[in-house]
Amino acid sequence: KIMRDDFVKALDEVKPAFGIASEEFEQCAANGIIEFAPSVGELLEKANLFVEQVNHSNRSPLVSLLLYGPSGSGKTALAATIAQRSAYPFVKMVSPEGMIGYTDSQRVAHITKIFNDSYKSPLSLIVIDDIERLLEWVPIGPRFSNSVLQTLLVLIKKQPPKGRRLLIVGTTSERNVLSEMDMLSAFSNEILVENVNTLDEMDRVLRHVRLFDDTSDYARMRTDLTTHFEGRLFSIGIKKLLLLIETARQDPEKYKRFVEEILVAC
Ligand code: ATP
Ligand code: MG
Repeated sequence: KIMRDDFVKALDEVKPAFGIASEEFEQCAANGIIEFAPSVGELLEKANLFVEQVNHSNRSPLVSLLLYGPSGSGKTALAATIAQRSAYPFVKMVSPEGMIGYTDSQRVAHITKIFNDSYKSPLSLIVIDDIERLLEWVPIGPRFSNSVLQTLLVLIKKQPPKGRRLLIVGTTSERNVLSEMDMLSAFSNEILVENVNTLDEMDRVLRHVRLFDDTSDYARMRTDLTTHFEGRLFSIGIKKLLLLIETARQDPEKYKRFVEEILVAC
């Protein structure tokens, strides 16, 4: 006979520390998501379709989405935001930061446990962040952990048990490397996360964080950068741009400092 206690125990089991996980996700998007281009909103809308699909369609208990793009383009923050907004009962992140000092077999065990825990919940979302670093891939050599790779390849494709649904959101800055490792085909969908690619997009970020309250400073900055980038490619990751804005903010000569930093970064 099933008693109340069994129920409570079962609930404990399917609720693996949502609190801790959700704090972790909040930290990943500490600076929020700024809509500096239509692609940002479009990405979140597309991702939300997958969230809904796993939630409602009986035919797709497993969907996986890879967010790829240059380093610092905002992949981790976007993945964390998708996870938070999903409001699924089980959301977890597999990240290199969470496995510092682990041996290969500890990594394999840790990743496997997170997937096994997810199979206990009716609806789960797992973020696999920074996949090339999870694999300890290094460009010199090149070397990586084959046991972690094999584990991920199996788990990303593995159908959850009957009645369970799982959405996997992976991130990588090394799409080519994943392709060589045969991992791209494991993901059912992929979306490019773009850098801040025009001065107008940069403007939207600047306005959002209110760096220049002095309009003449702002105008001078725009003139300088427009001249400099005339016919040249402008591209910077949102992560770096936000960092550089905060550096400039500390400087009494904000305008000069900002232009300098941008020229160094781009
Ligand atoms: P890395 O390649 O080093 O892993 P990343 O691509 O994962 O970097 P994040 O760590 O997500 O980049 O950093 C993006 C930062 O920019 C976060 O602090 C996030 O809050 C902020 N941010 C602001 N607007 C956006 C946006 N539109 N998209 C993504 N992140 C944004
Ligand atoms: Mg990241």
